[in-house]
Amino acid sequence: MSEFILAAVAWPYGNSQIHAGNLAGSYLPADIFARYHRLKGNQVLMVSGTDSHGTPITVRAEAENVSPEEVYLRFHAGFLELFQKMGLTYDLFTSTHTENHFKVSQAMFNALLKNGFMYEETQKQWYSPKQGRFLPDRYVEGTCYICGYQNARSDQCDQCGSLLDPTKLIDPRTKIDGSAPELRDTTHFFLDLGMLQDDVAEFLKERESYWRPNVIRQSLGQIQTEGLRGRPITRDLKWGIPVPVEGWEGKCLYVWFEAVIGYLSASIEWSKIHNKPDAWRDWWKNQNAKTLYFIGKDNIPFHAIIWPAELAGAGGAFDAFFGEGEEEPFVLPYDVPANEFLNLEGQKISGSRNWAVWGLDFLSRYDPDPLRYYLTAIMPETRDADWDWEEFYHRNNDELVATWGNLVNRVLSFAYKYWEGVVPEPGTLADEDKALLDEVEKGFENIGSDLEAVRLRSALNEAMRLASKVNKYLDQSAPWKSVKTDKSEAGRAIFVAMKAIDSLKVLFAPFLPFTCQKLHHFLGYDGHLFGSQYTESYQDAVGEHSALLYDPSNAIGKWEKSELSPGHKFLKPEPLFIKLDKSIVEDERGRLGK
Ligand SMILES: [Zn+2]
Repeated sequence: MSEFILAAVAWPYGNSQIHAGNLAGSYLPADIFARYHRLKGNQVLMVSGTDSHGTPITVRAEAENVSPEEVYLRFHAGFLELFQKMGLTYDLFTSTHTENHFKVSQAMFNALLKNGFMYEETQKQWYSPKQGRFLPDRYVEGTCYICGYQNARSDQCDQCGSLLDPTKLIDPRTKIDGSAPELRDTTHFFLDLGMLQDDVAEFLKERESYWRPNVIRQSLGQIQTEGLRGRPITRDLKWGIPVPVEGWEGKCLYVWFEAVIGYLSASIEWSKIHNKPDAWRDWWKNQNAKTLYFIGKDNIPFHAIIWPAELAGAGGAFDAFFGEGEEEPFVLPYDVPANEFLNLEGQKISGSRNWAVWGLDFLSRYDPDPLRYYLTAIMPETRDADWDWEEFYHRNNDELVATWGNLVNRVLSFAYKYWEGVVPEPGTLADEDKALLDEVEKGFENIGSDLEAVRLRSALNEAMRLASKVNKYLDQSAPWKSVKTDKSEAGRAIFVAMKAIDSLKVLFAPFLPFTCQKLHHFLGYDGHLFGSQYTESYQDAVGEHSALLYDPSNAIGKWEKSELSPGHKFLKPEPLFIKLDKSIVEDERGRLGK
């Protein structure tokens, strides 16, 4: 039976380019997972967009003396280009600066207010006497009072991952001009996480057995040791979504409150675009749907505590405020498979120091599949990982080219030469032939269960192990020798190898969609394993923006073993991958200034 699967992907801030660490952290794993479920025939919805409201954007806009809108639109355009080149199959990649997102966020706010999970409180906020205004949390930096990290943002420490009470920050300084801010009174709405704590704790306990330990530690662990307290969800800011309450003009919904609502609003926007206005409910109001959130570890508390609290607290009241459908509770996250960090050549990635492998820059010199391969092979699923250019070079040449690419090339070239583009008749299969095909075909189960549990490294390893098995089989059966003495024996080995390769094509497809499509073509098949990506522009009351979409209607790929039969015609192959020269290691390290 077909399942409803939501792949909710982290929202990149519209203030900087995307680097390999972002790709490995959330965007690529989400796409691999989504592509697998698309092949399985499930109802996949993969959504995200540009977070266009955060203070990272206003900080940059002020530095460049342009509007925040200009800043986010510029980076948003780069994201759309990168995601197409990289083949990240978002059903909708939109932004938070849309009329739809404003309405959905305000309905969530109103639902939480009505259900009694909001309260007003006057709090101390950092104020810059020099600039004559309240400062958002990101405008203030200082020393973390938990771990002592000196460059902590006032609301969150990037070193220890803790959410911080901004007023407790040690030695605060203003990010814009370095001056010392002072604390002044301002009134805000607070989300009453204390009242929602039992609901969230119960939700986490139900998932404790299968969630990644780090995610549980940073969510359930935090609740059990510290407990939850109310958090302000409005800000003294002009750029953002207005608080939908009279008398609150000039204040906005806090970006973290509304950005997570983007998963829901993007699903609703997708439904509207496709003229199925209620379709989003299949993922959000159908308790059999599975919703997975692909994020980096720095965002765990927002996705494992705050977002489930918002969903549980708003519940069916959202439907009343949004004005559509029956009042039903929301589906809570099925999993939050947060990844750890990716470092670069032994050091923390830093965009500002240009210590990064930038997605678009990389793709100006290399193909997307080697990037997808390397990032998956080293994916930081359980601990921090390191991008090393020498390792990239070796994994490309020794694994992608030598194990998988050469297997395809030598088998198809040989078969094309001796059987003139027609799959040979195998006769009766021997035990070792059947054993190989059985082992490869078991991959659909083994690799599938790894992919479902978001163990992507393990899934890719298994696919590569099976490719090595086919190489070994060919070394033993040596059809290149037997073709001269017994062509039918050689034909049997080639038939078995081609059938294994045809299955491996599907097993590798979620990871290596571009080259698997090429292989699909060389194997003589028509059509596309996956659907196609396209962009569209929209105008609404808030502004104009473009979005990336995915059309699955032409996809024919299926997560099923090969049915390749003798007599099937195929084409002359070309190499799937490019062997790299060793000099790229020094060149790339030189680009980093190393
Ligand atoms: Zn800290």
